Amino acid sequence: MKPSKGLLMVISGPSGAGKGTVCKELNKNNEFWISVSATTRSPRLGELNEINYYFLTKDEFKQRIKNKDFLEYAEVYGNYYGTPKSKVEEMLNKGIDVILEIDIQGALKVKECYPEGVFIFILPPSMGELKKRIINRKSETPESFMTRFKSAYKEINYVSKYNYAVVNDVVENAVNKIKSIIVAEKCRVDRIKDSILDSKEGLIHEQFYD
Ligand code: 5GP
Repeated sequence: MKPSKGLLMVISGPSGAGKGTVCKELNKNNEFWISVSATTRSPRLGELNEINYYFLTKDEFKQRIKNKDFLEYAEVYGNYYGTPKSKVEEMLNKGIDVILEIDIQGALKVKECYPEGVFIFILPPSMGELKKRIINRKSETPESFMTRFKSAYKEINYVSKYNYAVVNDVVENAVNKIKSIIVAEKCRVDRIKDSILDSKEGLIHEQFYD
């Protein structure tokens, strides 16, 4: 049977929807590989280089763009963010499932080169709750809070470009829904037919009769 490639999952949603928390909980048992992005934004309190992000200067980031190091990159809230390409490809080729937690612009670019990816949009239970969550995070200045909150209204309209929408009311519920999506995606015939069917005869591989 042919070894199958890893599943590429792209998770987006407005700031404060809880993507980070959901991804962390989803990967509690290290079943996935969560890509570490590069960014030109400054580290927040407690954030570590190479763990949370690769924190780069604008010049370093631009050099990486020139070198075609990114699978995608985008300017988000005035800073650059990008997904390092080589590691993502390496993991997928090894059969490891990969999670990209990236913004909508980036997700749409990834969809062009990986249409077989699974695109999941995390929604807050309400805009009021979203506002509360961004405020409680205490990491934003009043200006950056307004930028993120206003953007959220626009971003939510992009949910129709994604395959799945998951409301993050309670983290555990959101995580369980994503786990169900992953199970279903891994059973999709168009994903697994090469590994269960004999390509020439259209017959099920012999080992499936054992
Ligand atoms: P934050 O500054 O809150 O960590 O992230 C801001 C936004 O940038 C979030 O929506 C996050 O998903 C997005 N982001 C993080 N890494 C990447 C990336 O590599 N590419 C793109 N396009 N967006 C990213």
